[in-house]
Amino acid sequence: MNPLRAIRQILFPETCVLCGEPLTHGEETLCHRCIQELPFTGFPFSADNPAARALASKTDIHKATALLFYQKNGISGRLIHKLKYHHHPSVGKRLADFTAPLLRDQGVEFIVPVPLHPKKLRKRGYNQVEHFGRQLARLIHAEYRPSWVRKKANTASQTTKSPLERWQNVIDGFEVNRRRLQSGHILVVDDVLTTGATLAAVIIRLRQALPEARISAATMAFNAYM
Ligand SMILES: [Zn+2]
Repeated sequence: MNPLRAIRQILFPETCVLCGEPLTHGEETLCHRCIQELPFTGFPFSADNPAARALASKTDIHKATALLFYQKNGISGRLIHKLKYHHHPSVGKRLADFTAPLLRDQGVEFIVPVPLHPKKLRKRGYNQVEHFGRQLARLIHAEYRPSWVRKKANTASQTTKSPLERWQNVIDGFEVNRRRLQSGHILVVDDVLTTGATLAAVIIRLRQALPEARISAATMAFNAYM
């Protein structure tokens, strides 16, 4: 531990975001006991696991992985809730630490977060995926590219549309910044993969602009109960 952090730890002891116990040497954001209870999926970064298959039913995907099983009222649900609503962006960073080993030597060059609606971004103050994406980029030596995909401010109401029109509407809700895009192996990151619709919409948008790119995905959690 660096000396400044050691002094800060004495004055303002950091606590585990889940159980509230003081963190000990070497622990960051989460204590070892809580980490042991996390429901890791064990999914490899591959084209054939439940997360990859959920996305492949909607769009072409190179590989995908998801770190944790999402349980709304369980430990992973509480963790994602802390990240989104209780201003604990460090949770994203910590989950990236666990995800990075799966993504090493996979040739990922760019990491693109699923963007937040501008209104939500103003309200929350940060995109909950940002720290996850940035830390992953740092650990696997990829470039973090948050400006490539944008969520449009106005999306038409979903209420009176057919399923196909609704799906088109989700896709139309995102736009890419064509001037900045570069082709290569792109990893799109998000918090929870549920139906995969949001993530697939972003991938479809990127693929329309970059037909040659390899596009993969990684999420912090996978909702297997959908
Ligand atoms: Zn704990």
